[in-house]
Amino acid sequence: MTVNSAVNDASGYPPDGARARRARELLQEERRTRVAQLTVLEHAEDAAPDQGTLARRESLQSTLEEIDAALARLDDGTYGLCEDCGEPVPEGRLEIIPYARRCVQCQQRRR
Ligand SMILES: [Zn+2]
Repeated sequence: MTVNSAVNDASGYPPDGARARRARELLQEERRTRVAQLTVLEHAEDAAPDQGTLARRESLQSTLEEIDAALARLDDGTYGLCEDCGEPVPEGRLEIIPYARRCVQCQQRRR
């Protein structure tokens, strides 16, 4: 247990804590779903996949990258902190998008 970490409090996600475990479960569930969808798309694919299929695959692949990045953040203890402002991302948002990198305000600023 480290004591010198800013995220090591009740609102953070210390890597061994129950909140991190829950987040990891959500992420792995998301991951399984995306991998299954991607597998279906790849198997359904004929010699020339259409634009829609290609776009769908790309979007699934980039989501998978986001999920893996979030799992890495869980390991290094920075999960749940907004990448831009450093404030905790609200738990409700992480329940819906467990791989969210930013709080709602910062995400909206980027659009
Ligand atoms: Zn923010």
